[in-house]
Amino acid sequence: MKLPQLLLLAFVALTTSAAAQTKTQNPVQKLIRPVNDSELPKGRKTIAIVGVNLIDGRGLNAIPDATVIIQGNRILAAGHSAGIQIPQGAEFVQGKGFSLLPGLIDSHFHLDRTKDLPAMFLQNGVTSLRDPGAWIEAYAQERKSGKQMPRLYLSGPHLDGAPPAYPYDAYVVRDEAEAIRQVNELADEGSTVIKIYFRIPPGMIKAITETAHKRGIPVTGHLEITEAKQAIEAGLDGIEHITSFGLSLTPKRDAEKYRQGMLADNNFRKQGRYNTWAGLDLNSRLADSLVRFLVRKKTFISPTLGAFEYQAEKDKIDSIKLRGFESMKKLTAKLQKAGVPLVLGSHSMITYAEKGWAYQREMEIWSESGISNAAIIHASTLQNARFFRIDRELGSIEKGKLADLILVKGNPLENIRAMRDIQKVMINGTWVK
Ligand SMILES: [Zn+2]
Repeated sequence: MKLPQLLLLAFVALTTSAAAQTKTQNPVQKLIRPVNDSELPKGRKTIAIVGVNLIDGRGLNAIPDATVIIQGNRILAAGHSAGIQIPQGAEFVQGKGFSLLPGLIDSHFHLDRTKDLPAMFLQNGVTSLRDPGAWIEAYAQERKSGKQMPRLYLSGPHLDGAPPAYPYDAYVVRDEAEAIRQVNELADEGSTVIKIYFRIPPGMIKAITETAHKRGIPVTGHLEITEAKQAIEAGLDGIEHITSFGLSLTPKRDAEKYRQGMLADNNFRKQGRYNTWAGLDLNSRLADSLVRFLVRKKTFISPTLGAFEYQAEKDKIDSIKLRGFESMKKLTAKLQKAGVPLVLGSHSMITYAEKGWAYQREMEIWSESGISNAAIIHASTLQNARFFRIDRELGSIEKGKLADLILVKGNPLENIRAMRDIQKVMINGTWVK
């Protein structure tokens, strides 16, 4: 081959690999860091996990006999055992009978003034969490406790109007100027996301998303009384809670009744949302048009089904709640099937999970809704990393990424309950004690 041909080939190779890279990376230059970045332990060893069932987070088939090499705090190699060279002096971990996954990422975690919860979640496989509505100071005590913490992606207080639903966790903004100022201050303080609550009027959302995007951080929202399509058109990146779609799916006269009930009393939603969801028709044109819109906009949806779960008791069945919850599950599965990017959030303390296990319960509810285990794991790892805008560094087991890993017994692709059988957790290249 002549020199010009070689140069041309090199050029083509370079440009195509650059194109492939920009596809998976987010376009924002700024890398979002957890607030406790400098407090994390950092791995120094070379570790080889051999003969393991590798589920790498990208939503692909597992590699049944894989080897993963960790050097320092990063993944040096991952793939079929036959193709991986183990560096001399590496510490061996026998992976036969186990599955290796990326550390779980939780898009909706509340500290809720409970002690120990972040450390418990880390023990149970959650290596990154986002709290969409707590002052950064609220985590000070946990961070000083000496216990190992997950990567903490905090939002600062969520933005709400008066009277706020959760005064303790909210910052009340009265107009656009106040909202813009507050977003900038939160960004200065290290907030990794902006969260809006339901009393933020639609006209203010655009100013909030534009300001946040200029600062390189995404915006997510709990909508409830704001029509979802309108909020997304205004630039919202993600939506918290499947119930945020109630208004978009309800015929206008009933929707307005719900909105007025909420405007008069924040607590109206507690029973009101089950009444709404029990009566929804998810095969309606309204539902289909919403789904098509979400697919087109690629909006991240964090359904938090566990926060609304209702299980009928033997002699006491609340049929409204039962039908309402079934309907929430049904829409979640419909969105997934259509290709809307779902992400998993646990809501951290929920009725039907013991303390520390809300994340796993959420995974099980998705499975009971008819979503495949592969899709559930993808939503828990790489999709969440994309939502957080940290997918350059985390979310999958690929060469060069940070070594946040979990080792579980059995194969969660076959049975999602294997996610409760966590054997080992690695964060930043070090094993969690
Ligand atoms: Zn919440």
